[in-house]
Amino acid sequence: MIIYKTREEIEIMREAAQVVSRTLGKIAEALEPGITPLELDAIAESYIRSQNAIPGFLGLYDFPNTLCISMNEQVVHGIPTNTPIKEGDVVSVDCGAIFEGYYGDHAYTFAVGNVSSEIQHLLKVTKECLDIGVEQTRAGNRIGDIGFHIQQHAEKHGYGVVRELVGHGLGKTMHEEPQVPNYGRRGRGKKIQDGLTIAIEPMINMGTERVKYLSDNWTIVTADGKPSAHFEHDVAVVNGEPIVLSTFSYIEEALAKKA
Ligand code: MG
Ligand code: MG
Repeated sequence: MIIYKTREEIEIMREAAQVVSRTLGKIAEALEPGITPLELDAIAESYIRSQNAIPGFLGLYDFPNTLCISMNEQVVHGIPTNTPIKEGDVVSVDCGAIFEGYYGDHAYTFAVGNVSSEIQHLLKVTKECLDIGVEQTRAGNRIGDIGFHIQQHAEKHGYGVVRELVGHGLGKTMHEEPQVPNYGRRGRGKKIQDGLTIAIEPMINMGTERVKYLSDNWTIVTADGKPSAHFEHDVAVVNGEPIVLSTFSYIEEALAKKA
């Protein structure tokens, strides 16, 4: 059952999403060669707690940390390690927070220093896939329209769309109905209407769409070892239109300062 939210609930969810957005801004400031994923995780946890929020992933399904940090060929659900990040790494950071009982869930993929033009292109197209998905999240459309258009855009560039993991409804729990696949058929699935709150999160692989689990039973990697990217926004439907509750602006400000 889809739990549609009131305008008041959506405003709280915006606060939750913004806590995560600012947290990812802190990560953008700190992310440089030599820092470890565990150090980034500590920054995120203390920042979230300073905002009267609670880390949303920590302990969820027994996940051990505040951030999922997925390096290079890792798609999602990477567990932060103490291996220093290096120039040229592709670092996907996914973060959740609970604020006044509601979840924010938001992700960005960073290129550390100079990366190949192929990787830059993968990041650009995956971000475009997210924007395309958001644009489809409007009354009159169905959930299948979101995935259909994301898939079309990714595959047009020869990329693989991960099938095993999908976006999702979001609210008082992290994963609510409906599932929001990044692939699918136009005009299929539940109708989109006011009060829908979902996390849209294309996971796009440079090569094959196929993935496998590492032995930690968390980390998902591409089957061919090629890089993967992941961007995620929280979106609500208000007056028939998509409202993005999260923002990349803190990340972009931090990256612009470093450039
Ligand atoms: Mg997420
Ligand atoms: Mg999510």
